[in-house]
Amino acid sequence: MNCQPPQLVDRFGREISYARLSVTDRCDFRCVYCMAEEMKFLPRSQVLSLEELFEVGRALVELGVRKLRLTGGEPLVRNQVMRLVERLGQLPGLAELTMTTNGSQLERLALPLRQAGVRRLNISLDSLQQDKFRRITRSGDLRRVLRGIDAALAAGFERIKINSVILKGRNEDEILALAEFAQGRGMDLSFIEEMPLGLIDEHNRALSFCSSDEVREILQRCYTLTPVDDSTGGPSRYYAAAGSAARFGFISPHSHNFCHLCNRVRVTVEGRLLLCLGNEHSVDLRAVLRDPASGRDTLRQTIIDAMDLKPEQHHFDLNAEPDIIRFMNMTGG
Ligand code: SAM
Ligand code: SF4
Repeated sequence: MNCQPPQLVDRFGREISYARLSVTDRCDFRCVYCMAEEMKFLPRSQVLSLEELFEVGRALVELGVRKLRLTGGEPLVRNQVMRLVERLGQLPGLAELTMTTNGSQLERLALPLRQAGVRRLNISLDSLQQDKFRRITRSGDLRRVLRGIDAALAAGFERIKINSVILKGRNEDEILALAEFAQGRGMDLSFIEEMPLGLIDEHNRALSFCSSDEVREILQRCYTLTPVDDSTGGPSRYYAAAGSAARFGFISPHSHNFCHLCNRVRVTVEGRLLLCLGNEHSVDLRAVLRDPASGRDTLRQTIIDAMDLKPEQHHFDLNAEPDIIRFMNMTGG
């Protein structure tokens, strides 16, 4: 275990110990809140190779990042992604390697992920009704995702969390069904407020917005919730349900600003180190990785220097044109 003093500290004294690494911008789904129906994906030359992704992961861990989450796009559709997972899983100093996935490939890959050292998994699931699931994801097959969730449960992950983005008029009527589904299988469930990332015309984000408080009110019809003290520094606020080991989380970028606790950075698959989900402040790590004159020290120093760019907070406004035109699949959600 690395016992050096933290090297990644921003101007506001926040220590960065958590990084999300996007391993692809591609996806087999087109969720209505995340992507446009027709998407142009990045040409291969602009995307970090698996080796480059590993270099970034290693540098972050050497600088004190303890938790690394692989995401995308859909991380499990990246060719040979398991090679990267296996190598990252062996990094000394990394306390936790996790992944966020849409579940479509888990039937095949849940066990290899567990064996490669992934201890926790987040699986996105917005509906338990085949038709509705298809309408939200535009191309997903619910039965396949459910088989993937079963495979993940059988693979013995320490914790599995379901993520559900709740949209008014879409799936708010499934809040209790999703809760029962997760709780009955011993999984946590986080409800996410939709964020204005990328320009979409499929729905009006202000009209479909469903706040975490509204979701919690619906849950409280069936569950007695008590707040859980959680020190992960993340945006989720957790509640325990009486009589159950499962927890319900709320990710509320609008109704509850979590910036003062932020301990994280993101790296896009183009190698942009993003200092904040809701701002464009970033540093180009790909240029450093591909500069023959730079080595591992330069990469580490570039990441350390980037901390000065981390803004104090984000400002999301659902009624305005999005400030952030990159889609969530580019950001690494
Ligand atoms: N494809 C994987 C998945 O869906 O789990 C990983 C990437 S996805 C971008 C990560 C998470 O971001 C998912 O739980 C998804 O529901 C969420 N997400 C995507 N677009 C969002 C948006 N505009 N607002 C809030 N959450 C969003
Ligand atoms: Fe794909 Fe995940 Fe975005 Fe859905 S939320 S389109 S599964 S990247």
